[in-house]
Amino acid sequence: MPSKQQRQALNNGINQIIDAMPINGSPVVIEVRSLTKKYNGILAVNCISFTVQRGSITALVGGNGAGKTTTLSMLLGLLLPSEGEINILGADMLTKRHLVLPRMNFSSPYVGMPARLTVGENLTVYANLYGLDNVKDRVTSVAKDLQILDTLKIQLGNLSSGQKTRVSLAKALINEPELLILDEPTASLDPESADWARGHLESYQQRTGATLLLASHNMGEVERLCHKVLMMKDGTIIDEGSPQRLIANYDRKNLEEVFLDIARDRTHSRDFVP
Ligand code: ATP
Repeated sequence: MPSKQQRQALNNGINQIIDAMPINGSPVVIEVRSLTKKYNGILAVNCISFTVQRGSITALVGGNGAGKTTTLSMLLGLLLPSEGEINILGADMLTKRHLVLPRMNFSSPYVGMPARLTVGENLTVYANLYGLDNVKDRVTSVAKDLQILDTLKIQLGNLSSGQKTRVSLAKALINEPELLILDEPTASLDPESADWARGHLESYQQRTGATLLLASHNMGEVERLCHKVLMMKDGTIIDEGSPQRLIANYDRKNLEEVFLDIARDRTHSRDFVP
């Protein structure tokens, strides 16, 4: 008869195997190996490795300064890694990113679009940058989806931050990306708009089979949307798994409590390795 600890160890092992299994047998879309970023001696990202499966929604979670934005910026080719490898959609991002970037897109409240251009002009610029056909139709269609048709003729700088977030999401979906990277996608939205945006991203993922990687401080959002969570602290990934597995392993009621445990260093995970 196995002991309680043995049963727990077995359950953990099984959970880890399940977490590592490709979703629907899907291949890996992002493979990161030993990725490191130093800013003038500050170790922002410290030798992290992880994979993201096609058709999954994965979250990077961690406190302020954990290294999430730096990681996403390296994946997008906006920052050069100090060390390590990034393979996206089968191509090495350091040497072949021109092949990959047309198939991805991103949204971040921290990356501004030209404020003096109207929303329509902004979306048209990005549609042209991606070399899309039928630019006008595509702009109208994505603006309709994001419920910003009435803002197309307004200068971006004159919108509320919630409206700007919707424009940023419209820009991110303009090329129907296979891989969508989102830095705090609902940060400036009121609860109802945030809920609507989550639903929109979820249905986009289900409709197209796209892969989503997002950074978020909203644990309810992560629990609702994500298949996998990468927990970052001080530039490293200290734990990962499905929200359900993390909650069970830390013996907590929800992901918010897991986050607080990790932030306060009260690590309850049964298989946690510091
Ligand atoms: P937040 O949740 O606050 O957005 P984050 O997890 O996204 O935080 P990063 O923005 O990646 O964290 O920052 C990681 C570390 O790198 C922090 O210590 C930050 O001060 C530092 N850092 C980020 N950008 C720069 C920069 N351009 N120059 C120097 N240090 C930087």
